[in-house]
Amino acid sequence: MNIVVLVKQVPDSGADRNLRTDDNTVDRGSANNVINEMDEYAIEEALKIKEAHGGEVTILTMGPDRATESIRKALSMGPDKAVHVVDDALHGSCAVATSKVLAAALGQLNADLVLCGSESTDGRVQVMPHMLAERLGIAALTGARKLTVDGATLTVERQTEEGYEVVTASTPAIVSVWDTINEPRYPSFKGIMAAKKKPVQTLALADLGVAANEVGFDGATSAVVEHSKRPPRSGGVKVTDEGSGGTQLVEFLATEKFV
Ligand SMILES: Cc1cc2nc3c(=O)[nH]c(=O)nc-3n(C[C@H](O)[C@H](O)[C@H](O)COP(=O)(O)OP(=O)(O)OC[C@H]3O[C@@H](n4cnc5c(N)ncnc54)[C@H](O)[C@@H]3O)c2cc1C
Repeated sequence: MNIVVLVKQVPDSGADRNLRTDDNTVDRGSANNVINEMDEYAIEEALKIKEAHGGEVTILTMGPDRATESIRKALSMGPDKAVHVVDDALHGSCAVATSKVLAAALGQLNADLVLCGSESTDGRVQVMPHMLAERLGIAALTGARKLTVDGATLTVERQTEEGYEVVTASTPAIVSVWDTINEPRYPSFKGIMAAKKKPVQTLALADLGVAANEVGFDGATSAVVEHSKRPPRSGGVKVTDEGSGGTQLVEFLATEKFV
């Protein structure tokens, strides 16, 4: 089975993250960048399928030069090769433009199965699998907590708030996963050394037949026009009980419409 895993490099959500003041985009230059957490689960799932059914696993990333670090880290887990879409014109791309570029790259990769995370920790738009499925004319099985492959039939347990749904589709299809689906492996020393030699193909927009004005700020369908940090929490109200503490608490809750 020919599997492509979408991997996005994102600023580490455990550290301080900022937007740039000049153009309101994510400040990736000064951030500690890592593989989007959910994508590690997609990589693990791809490797498990390859181990059970054979085939090849390719990593696909759209991102700046620095995304190479995350591509090598992804390859150290075990995938065979990677494709990196990198082009200066991509800076400022909206979700719609991102899906256009990733779909064009996927169009060259002939995947039976595309795996991705259910959301990224920076954009969090949760739309990429649906947009890609629409552009490629394939099924989207989203929010998987379990994936079973039986020949050309994919069966997914789709995690919902109340429980799960079982949905099926034939390949080719795209499946997005949650962190309940597996436990990603740690790269071994051998894997880290092997990753240094694995092929990483670099593609520019021209290689994909996408014009520069269809992406980036020029092609964006929406824009962040302003941003500000969440204000620090205020000190709150302190109630000193001098006999009427209970009444004061109830009055406070009523004023704030909690009761
Ligand atoms: C500060 C900020 C401003 C933004 N402004 C806008 C805006 O004005 N208009 C607008 O439409 N969007 C905007 N976005 C969204 C931004 O364009 C998205 O981050 C991007 O389009 C991809 O969406 P996502 O990662 O949230 O996708 P999701 O659908 O949350 O990601 C799901 C999965 O898709 C895959 N994936 C996503 N992106 C990539 C990639 N580049 N390469 C490989 N795989 C990928 C990963 O596997 C990921 O787990 C903004 C985001 C931020 C953080």
